[in-house]
Amino acid sequence: MSETASSDRIIDLADACVKCGLCLPWCPTYALDGVETESPRGRIALSRHAVDGSLAPETDLRAHLDHCLGCLACQRVCPVPVHYAELLTGYRAALPPAKARPRRLLRMLTRPRVLRFGASVARITAARHWLPPLARLLPRSSAVRAAITLLPALPHQRSALFRNNRASLQPGDWGPGTGDRKTGGKRVALFGGCVQGALERDAQDAAAILLEAAGFEVMRIDGLCCGALAAHTGDAVDMSRKAERVRAAVGAEGLSTLLTATPGCLGTLREDLPDAQVQDAMAFLDLHGEALKFRPLQRKAVLHLPCTQVNVARADGAVRRLLARVPGLQLIELPTKGTCCGAAGSYMLEFPERAVALRNRVFDCMPDPAPDLLLTANIGCRLHLGAGLQQRGARIEIQHPLVLLARCLEGMG
Ligand code: SF4
Ligand code: SF4
Repeated sequence: MSETASSDRIIDLADACVKCGLCLPWCPTYALDGVETESPRGRIALSRHAVDGSLAPETDLRAHLDHCLGCLACQRVCPVPVHYAELLTGYRAALPPAKARPRRLLRMLTRPRVLRFGASVARITAARHWLPPLARLLPRSSAVRAAITLLPALPHQRSALFRNNRASLQPGDWGPGTGDRKTGGKRVALFGGCVQGALERDAQDAAAILLEAAGFEVMRIDGLCCGALAAHTGDAVDMSRKAERVRAAVGAEGLSTLLTATPGCLGTLREDLPDAQVQDAMAFLDLHGEALKFRPLQRKAVLHLPCTQVNVARADGAVRRLLARVPGLQLIELPTKGTCCGAAGSYMLEFPERAVALRNRVFDCMPDPAPDLLLTANIGCRLHLGAGLQQRGARIEIQHPLVLLARCLEGMG
């Protein structure tokens, strides 16, 4: 690779690592494989040598860089800190992946209309029952096989309860560019995202209902992809195209606060909109939702905190505090140190066998007997965990925490 400004930057970022190893116990791939090359410290060294040309591009060691989940647990605990997120995006854009990526399939996932249409066809034809057995004829490493095994975990269609209570606005309803100036910050934008926006509409509706009950006017920004999946695959051109579309949509409304119910979008949205306040919807409600009142729910639930909600949004405390406001709800939290369910954006499709091994480590931490409800905020985690639970014959309902909160909101129903 030639010497460029970006390779200089990657080398500077890598050289900040003092090799203390404090990040190692937090890294899920290090916990899985137990080798230095699958650790943050190992990947930092590999990326430096791959970029400065001292590591041959065709070496098997390149695969270890691709195996990174992007969970950013390492960055959260690093005392320096090493800016691992920037390093990861940088080396993924600079270096070709070690194996061919299923780019066509991944691009399809970022098109909400295509996804929604595909999900409807899958429901009408009951594909969840007959397609996964056929997919087992494909190799275990096949991305198509991995995508089909997620079908049994597709969320149900939009709930009537939320559809009937939905009062939020669509772009243009306020008049172009009126923004949040006249309302003292009482207007917020809610970003739907591609996969969650298409497949988990209840979570978007629940977020809007809770925000409106807390006194905010909500502008829905739907039908767009933040670019996170493109970042996972190192497609810098697609990433910047998607960022431009997000900037145009949010800028046209003149809003300064953008919220998302999908923690997986948060880091990329912050990069797309450096001048906006981009927050996890649950962190925002924790700060501004004091008016919300919840009815009791006598139920026990397992709480799964997605890596991005813990390490990027840093909203784990907010999630716990909000759920603790539902009287009677008991939570059993899954551990986050050294674990990741393996969904990780496109990871579950690109490295399905590794994703299953990571998921099994999470299942090993499930209480026995397990409650019949699991809460998780990321659509990827929901699909991947849900598919694994179904394969094990477990009857567990999966909900976004915002859906549970909106269902318990006083005055709903
Ligand atoms: S904790 Fe930070 S400085 Fe220490 S090895 Fe990990 S990345 Fe390097
Ligand atoms: S981002 Fe996650 S998987 Fe990647 S090196 Fe850091 S802790 Fe390990």
